[in-house]
Amino acid sequence: MKQLLLLLVFISLILSCGEKNEKENIKIFVSDSTEESDKSSISLEFVLYDSVTTSQVLIIRDKLEHNADRILDFFKIKPVDTFKIHVWGNYENYLIAQELYAGQRYEGSTGYVISSNELAMFLTDDIEETAEHEFVHAVSLRVDASNPRWLWESVATYVANEFIDPNEINYLKNSNYPTIAELNGDFNHGNFKIYDVGYLLSEFIIHKWGKEKYLELIKSSGDLRKVFNITDTDFETEWTNFVNAKYFKHIPS
Ligand SMILES: [Zn+2]
Repeated sequence: MKQLLLLLVFISLILSCGEKNEKENIKIFVSDSTEESDKSSISLEFVLYDSVTTSQVLIIRDKLEHNADRILDFFKIKPVDTFKIHVWGNYENYLIAQELYAGQRYEGSTGYVISSNELAMFLTDDIEETAEHEFVHAVSLRVDASNPRWLWESVATYVANEFIDPNEINYLKNSNYPTIAELNGDFNHGNFKIYDVGYLLSEFIIHKWGKEKYLELIKSSGDLRKVFNITDTDFETEWTNFVNAKYFKHIPS
């Protein structure tokens, strides 16, 4: 693990909120490497709301600085100058901002991307995991901005190493595999299975077709027929066989 020398610039701004004459504390915290040899590809700028402290987000800085190069390399993307990361400590305020930035509230979510170099998240005990997941989304946005949800989340869970053993996923143990259509269901309609199986879908694609084709699939907005010449149904069957053989030691039917 490379040593990072960091120049921490901490600026505290007190902005007044005009409408109700309330004062809101917004802190801006910039993290950057100082030594050329240690230089991480990215610099981070944090915007902290609701009294979130600098020390509470250092874990995000460490996580991203240790994983950014790997993630950027994975997508063959050159870094942008600065990633801006907004962190809220109050969940209602997080949702209000989400409505402004993302167009609607995703109750239960803990992070989302604003753009390809701007992330938003709510302060939780494992916020660094959220940060890595959202960072992958942000970078993948630069490859393609219109991936279907199944692939969008599959890519994030795979590249952020969010593997869940199929033996811990009851519906897979019961041979009840979700379809692509089901995985594309909306977050706000309670469709969360893609977070369980997303890693396994990417693992299967890379195992069968390789990394270059995987990137091509992302670039083509998840067009399975165009990139792999396969129907959704055949893809689902082959994926099921792959997971059964690898994790449940079943012989494919
Ligand atoms: Zn996600």
